[in-house]
Amino acid sequence: MASHIGPATSPYPYPQLLHAPFGLPSLTLRARSNKPIASCPSCNLGYQRARVEQRNGLKFERGTKLLKDLSTWGIGGPCDYFVQVFDNTQLVAAVRFCQEKSIRFIVIGNGSNCLFDDEGFEGCVILNRIKFLERVRPGIYRVGSGFRFNLLGLKCSNEGFAGLEFAGGIPGTVGGAIYTNAGANGQETADVIDSVDILTTESKLKRLGRNELEFGYRKSPFQCMKDLAAIVGATFRLQRSGSARSRQLEHLERRRISQPIRERSAGSVFRNPHNAGVSAGKLIEDAGLKGMRVGGVIVSEVHANFLINTGGSSSQDMLHLIELVKGGVLMRFGIELEEEISYIHPRKSSQTL
Ligand SMILES: Cc1cc2nc3c(=O)[nH]c(=O)nc-3n(C[C@H](O)[C@H](O)[C@H](O)COP(=O)(O)OP(=O)(O)OC[C@H]3O[C@@H](n4cnc5c(N)ncnc54)[C@H](O)[C@@H]3O)c2cc1C
Repeated sequence: MASHIGPATSPYPYPQLLHAPFGLPSLTLRARSNKPIASCPSCNLGYQRARVEQRNGLKFERGTKLLKDLSTWGIGGPCDYFVQVFDNTQLVAAVRFCQEKSIRFIVIGNGSNCLFDDEGFEGCVILNRIKFLERVRPGIYRVGSGFRFNLLGLKCSNEGFAGLEFAGGIPGTVGGAIYTNAGANGQETADVIDSVDILTTESKLKRLGRNELEFGYRKSPFQCMKDLAAIVGATFRLQRSGSARSRQLEHLERRRISQPIRERSAGSVFRNPHNAGVSAGKLIEDAGLKGMRVGGVIVSEVHANFLINTGGSSSQDMLHLIELVKGGVLMRFGIELEEEISYIHPRKSSQTL
């Protein structure tokens, strides 16, 4: 496996890039899909590459899948390859396919924490739909990483178990929540993890106990795990509670009032700064940046840490507004905001933007 493209070491070939502070890249846009790659000798017309490649029952769509359709922000151009996986066997086959072809890959869930680029992704996007749910014992849930995190939160709370009330309002998958250590309302995913099952780049399934995993605020060990191919599932251990569901309903109501949940967003764009005693949203609001717009992207009037795609936004608009917000907060308060979202670069490996 060629090492420069990532999968030999990580499906996030560029972890340092994905989570690095953003700058303003100057990108040259170019169409990658639909370009003829050869000519027919008899009629002299260009013809297309086959649009679908089949392997082990998997269909790899070539150059036709738009990442904007895989992200809650609704931004992103075509990816070279796209495949959906529904179980571990398919995931292994998809990863092997990429390794054999020396294609870099990324595994995504609901795309609710990702900014894809207008140029798309030179590699394979693997959409994780591994969705099983097992109740091992009362309060112990074993879940596929493609299971909807909000649905898991609703089920657990409804069944009288506490620890995942916050998940009810998070529109990602279990895998995405573990990878980002999603949290809200004083709870976070790491608090209730018992173990996490992963697939390594050597196609081995491994179970990692909670005590082997060090999480931080919106940080997980998976973000820099060299031999990770994907998180495939997890076991959660919850405590019995008669008030979990009512607490969850309160959280959901608060969210409905305080967040623009019907708009195209990726949730909070910036992490709350350490030891500042104030949230990123409040800093942005107090810097007078609510309503600031670049192209089709606007700083939400409802919650200043949400940047909204009001329609037709480009990734460049988003990156530009992110920089302006950071600059505004830095100038006003001397605090440097750090992104919570992942920017998925179309092709660069080791450079920051
Ligand atoms: C309206 C709204 C509200 C939100 N509220 C919150 C909130 O309260 N708290 C919060 O923390 N977040 C919140 N978010 C952000 C987001 O929903 C969470 O971060 C969520 O957990 C991301 O899950 P996902 O499946 O969408 O991940 P994706 O966006 O698909 O992926 C995010 C990252 O995780 C990686 N990843 C995903 N699945 C896997 C896997 N199986 N194996 C390995 N890596 C994987 C991806 O490669 C990527 O780097 C909100 C988003 C929206 C749109």
